[in-house]
Amino acid sequence: MKLFTLGPVQMFEETLEVRSRQIPYFRTTEFSDIMLENERLIKKRLNSLSDSKIVFLTASGTGAMEATVINCFNQNDRLLILNGGGFGKRFCEICDIHGIAYEAINLKWNEELTSEHLQKIEKPNEFTAFLVNVDETTSGQLYDLECISDFCKINGLLLIVDAISSFGADNIDMDRFGIDACIISSQKAMGLAPGLSIVILSNNIYEKKVLKQPQKTLYFDFKNHIENQKRGQTPFTPAVGILFELNDYLKRISDNKEDSPAILAKYFREKLEQNGFKYPDIPLSNALTPVMLEPDATKYYEILKDRYEMIVTPSGGDLKNVIVRVGHLGKLKKSDYDELIQAMKDIRQEIELKKEG
Ligand SMILES: *Cc1c(COP(=O)(O)O)cnc(C)c1O
Repeated sequence: MKLFTLGPVQMFEETLEVRSRQIPYFRTTEFSDIMLENERLIKKRLNSLSDSKIVFLTASGTGAMEATVINCFNQNDRLLILNGGGFGKRFCEICDIHGIAYEAINLKWNEELTSEHLQKIEKPNEFTAFLVNVDETTSGQLYDLECISDFCKINGLLLIVDAISSFGADNIDMDRFGIDACIISSQKAMGLAPGLSIVILSNNIYEKKVLKQPQKTLYFDFKNHIENQKRGQTPFTPAVGILFELNDYLKRISDNKEDSPAILAKYFREKLEQNGFKYPDIPLSNALTPVMLEPDATKYYEILKDRYEMIVTPSGGDLKNVIVRVGHLGKLKKSDYDELIQAMKDIRQEIELKKEG
């Protein structure tokens, strides 16, 4: 079985080895050292400033999205949400539930975000923050962070980035883009078990927003988490095992360039073109490639799974029979894509024969 999915993904042998070990007791200086090292290495990879803060949550990515919204904003704020798919919509739902006002910039499927979308926003400086899923995983679009960042800087908006499927696949630079909160999760490009999500906060948003919120949640209270992390601890039992997997990943990942998502994405897209398959003409994340297979996408997905033991990511709703999403995350190599392309060609031939007959 080979996973070309977006999370959980094909895991690295090293991660599986770490996973097989006994989980230790964690209120120890040894574990605190691991946590402080995790903090240092994540901040380095994200190029965040040394006074930034970090929160380790035992939750899937959505938990961290919700925690970020409720720890940073309240009824007095007005947010701008880039809604270009399922994950943009999720930010809107979170704000609806918590009574936080927002305006959505709605994009249709495969509509590219341009500076014109942002120019059209009325009274932009009256918003508090801009929320974006930098890779909108339902479409694969990688939004132009430079453009969004300039807009935020000019209008004095805080910038909240869900980089859950982008971290480890695309280049996310917190300092360069002035990102105030960056959300990442264990089961995507890092190829770890699901259950750990991490929020990195600029000192600016921490002092201006987080410290000033009245406490609204026990488990997700960022102030408490940040206070504990000063000594490398969490207020409650963390996902200890995944934090060891994370430590292993962060220490080893730079020497894995040959099979990086960027290289695999480029390789796969070239192969698609050479073999007459199509993908959208918009800026795409290295995390995935949506392959246009209308009206047979579900057929491809099912045959790949049942006959070839290859799992690509199906889509829901209107896109169900239109695309499958092929991931470039975790332990995959070029030859895996050669095999996938060959299987897709065989399936295409079979479908065409059936249609003719
Ligand atoms: C996967 C993902 C999430 C989180 O989903 P969970 O199922 O809660 O882990 C959030 N945002 C984006 C962009 C994602 O790709």
